[in-house]
Amino acid sequence: MPDCLFCKIADGTIPATLVHQDDEVVAFEDLNPQAPLHVLVIPRRHVPTMNELGAEHDQVMGRLYRVAAAIAGRRGVAASGWRAVMNANRDAGQTVFHVHLHVLGGRQLGWPPG
Ligand code: 5GP
Ligand code: ZN
Repeated sequence: MPDCLFCKIADGTIPATLVHQDDEVVAFEDLNPQAPLHVLVIPRRHVPTMNELGAEHDQVMGRLYRVAAAIAGRRGVAASGWRAVMNANRDAGQTVFHVHLHVLGGRQLGWPPG
């Protein structure tokens, strides 16, 4: 996907502060953090929104959560609490159309979300 911001971060064309990378998944600090911990975890493979997920994505989507939990553990919020959230399309506020799991923690998070 030549014009996808997160594909470019995944392949190193656009810089980001990476916190994890492997064959399938990349994680990096959000540019505009909403909490002391705000990392985005993405599949390397381009998928625009959750609406386009197929069975072929099942494994990598599970992996996003395991990477998120490992980051939460490393950053010291596993016990205090953290949140993983993925937005889809306009009403959820999605602005980058490459699926990404927001990993948020380090402060009391409001519920229900806005
Ligand atoms: P969304 O609103 O699509 O769920 O989340 C997109 C997220 O990407 C936002 O939290 C935003 O701050 C972050 N973001 C947008 N552009 C960049 C960028 O160039 N670099 C990084 N690291 N994060 C970005
Ligand atoms: Zn992409």
